[in-house]
Amino acid sequence: MTTHSLLQNYIDGSRSTPESAGRLDIENPSTAEILGQVPLSGAAEVDRAVAAGRAAFAGWSATPVARRCELLFKLAERIRGEFEDLARLVTLENGKSLPDARAEVKRALENTEVACGMPVLMQGDKLVGAAADIDGEVLRLPIGTFGMIAPFNFPMMVPFWFFPYALATGNTYVVKPSEQTPYSMDRVAELIDECGFPPGVFNVVHGDKTPAARLVEHPDVAGVSFVGTSSVCRLVASGCAERNKRFQALGSAKNHLVAMPDAKLEPMIRNMITSCYGCAGQRCMASSAIVAVGQENYETVCRAFVEASKGVITANPLDPAVADEAMVMGPVISAKSRQFIFEMIDQGINEGATLALDGRPLSVAGCENGHFVGPTVFTDVQPGMAIHHTEIFGPVVVILKADTLDEAIGIINDHPYGNGASIYTQNGHYARRFKLETNAGMIGVNVGIPAPVAPLPFGGMKDSIFADTKAQGRAVIDFFTEKKIITERYWEEP
Ligand code: NAD
Repeated sequence: MTTHSLLQNYIDGSRSTPESAGRLDIENPSTAEILGQVPLSGAAEVDRAVAAGRAAFAGWSATPVARRCELLFKLAERIRGEFEDLARLVTLENGKSLPDARAEVKRALENTEVACGMPVLMQGDKLVGAAADIDGEVLRLPIGTFGMIAPFNFPMMVPFWFFPYALATGNTYVVKPSEQTPYSMDRVAELIDECGFPPGVFNVVHGDKTPAARLVEHPDVAGVSFVGTSSVCRLVASGCAERNKRFQALGSAKNHLVAMPDAKLEPMIRNMITSCYGCAGQRCMASSAIVAVGQENYETVCRAFVEASKGVITANPLDPAVADEAMVMGPVISAKSRQFIFEMIDQGINEGATLALDGRPLSVAGCENGHFVGPTVFTDVQPGMAIHHTEIFGPVVVILKADTLDEAIGIINDHPYGNGASIYTQNGHYARRFKLETNAGMIGVNVGIPAPVAPLPFGGMKDSIFADTKAQGRAVIDFFTEKKIITERYWEEP
């Protein structure tokens, strides 16, 4: 199905349901044009989706794992087959550039492929001779119906950090996409149906916090994966903990890039630009704080970064004239988000930082109502200023100075968030110290977006995560399986 006909479903209202508490307009953030509407589901729809998941669980969990993976292989084939359409759908509803959207769909595909290895990945362990005449065995078993609450910034990829693994391990699933970007997951649900997954194994409910909160409360939901802001992470984590259900909640970020004086300047600046302005700064792994070590280096980095920022093309990412340019920056998600970014820029000026490049106001020809913000850079920033402390989630970069690597690591470690952090250096000793001493869950060395590939765990530290299991790969298999430990003995026949 093409993007157009998918959207037509919404415009016609054929996807609304009678119980919906209302409908929400969905905008193309590049133009503010209404793409369609999404139903605002209430508790009744969630209850129906969870009941479908519960009903499907007995049959699905008893289906041989190889058969479950056969269906996931089919899903991977379907995603590959309509890769470009899916990327365009992500761009349409989210506003990110097509290269960024393709990278997102590719990571979704990779997670599906890794989950196809489940016949090996979910094998248990056996210890023969654990004690005299006794064997010990660890079984990994599916648990039930899981829920997922997704953010707007990776409408395709983020649910794939979880659900392929949940399905492959024999669980059933309910996803609640962001109410700002509902279409990508709906198309995935259609593909899943077309692949022949049994009804009820994978379900999508739409709406805002009401259906999300119901997933947390519902007694038949075995666990919830949440990705979004840290303030909501706390609610989801405490709501699940109170009910003794599993949870993992991945939250906000302020990712730092440390520029050492020995780093290769030109490739470093290029890499920083991609990290800071990709997805208009709305990546949980986007960098928004640069720490340059040494006065002379600080001045060089400020000059080169501001100059390079001026070269970023801000445009409608579906404009054919720029669609395949590597460094195109689309709009931020909404007028509300842009307003918040503007307020944070005002706050930075009031705090005494130097606004070295101002991305306001920005009008893109033909897209005058779009939510664009141009690259914005503050220098002379002190740790703890609101523009350093707050996740702004837009193309606003702050540059700080440190005298030593110790001071740079201290600035990162004192920050409440600890999702990602990177160092640029050619010196193995600096890199090693950075890897060991920096309190961030995902570390880069000369890599500005250290987002791990699908087989490796994804997740931060400190207030960027509320969980002890991470997303993707083997890590999430623990979340979706119950480890039952068997201690077994047989007496000899008399
Ligand atoms: P958000 O917290 O506003 O919304 C996320 C989801 O939570 C949405 O589906 C929303 O409907 C739902 N929600 C909102 N209020 C709720 C409530 N009270 N109870 C239950 N659910 C509720 O986040 P967003 O603006 O969509 O996404 C951006 C945020 O996500 C940023 O902070 C970003 O850093 C973070 N993020 C983190 C990671 C990571 O891996 N750490 C990845 C992607 C995004």
